[in-house]
Amino acid sequence: MVKIIRIKGGTDNCYLVTDDNKAILVDTASGANLDMVIKECDKYEMKLIVLTHVHFDHAENAFELSKRYDIPVAINKLDEELFESFDKQPLKPIGLVGRVVLGLSLKVLRNTKIERPQNIIYIDDGDDLGSFGFDAKIIGLPGHTLGSIGVDVEGKHLLVGDELDNWIRPGVGHLYYDIDAIKKSADKIRKLGERTVYYGHGNPTPNGRF
Ligand SMILES: [Zn+2]
Repeated sequence: MVKIIRIKGGTDNCYLVTDDNKAILVDTASGANLDMVIKECDKYEMKLIVLTHVHFDHAENAFELSKRYDIPVAINKLDEELFESFDKQPLKPIGLVGRVVLGLSLKVLRNTKIERPQNIIYIDDGDDLGSFGFDAKIIGLPGHTLGSIGVDVEGKHLLVGDELDNWIRPGVGHLYYDIDAIKKSADKIRKLGERTVYYGHGNPTPNGRF
């Protein structure tokens, strides 16, 4: 039976999608959390790492973990330029929460070099992860970054990265690269109907609470 295990490092969430002894890791948290993430992943036969997008607090450990478990890292191609520089897709804030979060994280977003994993595969809207042994689909959710994606597991569990967040209450992501796209992606999530939504930041909630 599929279970979603939240790994919480400070304010960063990443998730193990597990089925008995095998697992996919969705996001990797930031470098400071590497040991904690390894401790959880070591319990499973790791099949794949999926990055919802390429920001350090989701992607910084991808290089190390991909090497350790000898598994690929799946990203959307449109985010690949973010391994070179965060400033390829600068973020703007929504509201007070957005301004506070951006104010606190901009320097580190800019200055953290995310090492590009050696084994990258590309994923896009509609791809499914059946070949990795999971009933899960990739959903394109551009807006926070150009290549942001979500993972829809068994039509029940939806992992959304930073497309939505739950810093204080669930809502459209407070930081965006493309405001129209992030709003459209939020509508797309609403229309998926009943799901548990797992955020890059904050506690999971039922879908539609935004
Ligand atoms: Zn982000």
